[in-house]
Amino acid sequence: MLNHKKLREAILLVEKLGGLSFEIGPIRPPSEGGSRSLLLRVTRNCPWRLCTFCYGIPYRRQKFQLRPVKEVMEDLDQAKSMADLLKEISLKLGYEGKTGESLLGALLKLDPTLGHHESFLNLFNWLSSGGKTVFLQDADSLIIPTRNLVEILKHLKKLFPQVERVTSYARAKTLTAKPLEDLKLLRSSGLSRLHVGLESGDDEVLKKVNKGVTSREHVEAGRKVIEAGIELSLYVMSGLGGVSLSRQHAENTADVLNRINPHFVRVRTFLPLPGTPLFDEYRKGNFKLLSPHQCLSEIRLMVEKLEITGRICFDHFINPSLKNGFPIFRQDYEGYKLPEEKSVLLETIDRALELEESELRWLEELVGLPCL
Ligand code: SF4
Repeated sequence: MLNHKKLREAILLVEKLGGLSFEIGPIRPPSEGGSRSLLLRVTRNCPWRLCTFCYGIPYRRQKFQLRPVKEVMEDLDQAKSMADLLKEISLKLGYEGKTGESLLGALLKLDPTLGHHESFLNLFNWLSSGGKTVFLQDADSLIIPTRNLVEILKHLKKLFPQVERVTSYARAKTLTAKPLEDLKLLRSSGLSRLHVGLESGDDEVLKKVNKGVTSREHVEAGRKVIEAGIELSLYVMSGLGGVSLSRQHAENTADVLNRINPHFVRVRTFLPLPGTPLFDEYRKGNFKLLSPHQCLSEIRLMVEKLEITGRICFDHFINPSLKNGFPIFRQDYEGYKLPEEKSVLLETIDRALELEESELRWLEELVGLPCL
């Protein structure tokens, strides 16, 4: 039975906790959501905002900003104070300093507003799943001067020594400008994985969607990341070339992936996003989405040509599925190991291709849904 004194003390600490916060950006990769990563916003928005399929819409087209290092450090200090307070509250309430569902229930009873406190919830979920992974937001953290990012990474490690994995989004263009030595320094300071939007290995597709990067630059950037000892996760957008460029999109994407040999390939089927130039083209009838069979055939062609030794993942619900939404591919974050599971993957695609298209979900059914 909790005594009154301890309860009163806990209430005061919860009040203090509710007054602390740190900034969180709008998006992170699904795999980081799955690992319940701590979200640390080191920049705001995207410095490019011109890819016609995205257009910076996930960041509400807001202007890019570098956050002052001091501000990011203060956010980390807030996160640390919140973690310390949580431990103290947990001890006072009889949960032995642990974070878990029952502590969360008790906290919400004491202060229901915590249920809408974004950074508290992020921190709580992160701690209760071990507090080992961190994701640096927003779209291109590597644009930060290396010495500043090193300072941030060191502070993170000092405050949370249990952290094992630090990941971030980065643009290939930014990576081409980063010296290999800088990437190595970032690796030794704790940066362990980068998520990069390859989208396509075909220069015609890249130019059409205004990616601002060529296939050659993609290869240069990807190889450099791997040489620095950083894990590389590349996003590929099937269907991005529409029907007319489907074949070259598949073949040249496989070729670029083979030349890089990333640790992860993550497939995201292209879906027109309202507010983007490509959505307007789609609405005007100038861009045709692939049919279910065309999409599967495009993925098949790419997979067939892949010679990589990493994993290919289909960890998003917009990828091919049956009419009822049941995914064709395993949807987990680890996906299929290549080359070992290549035949399983090809057989899976072939089985799906034997179905009538009416038994599969058409992309048009998803247009307009929140898919990020
Ligand atoms: S896809 Fe990436 S680089 Fe392109 S506009 Fe969107 S966030 Fe920026």
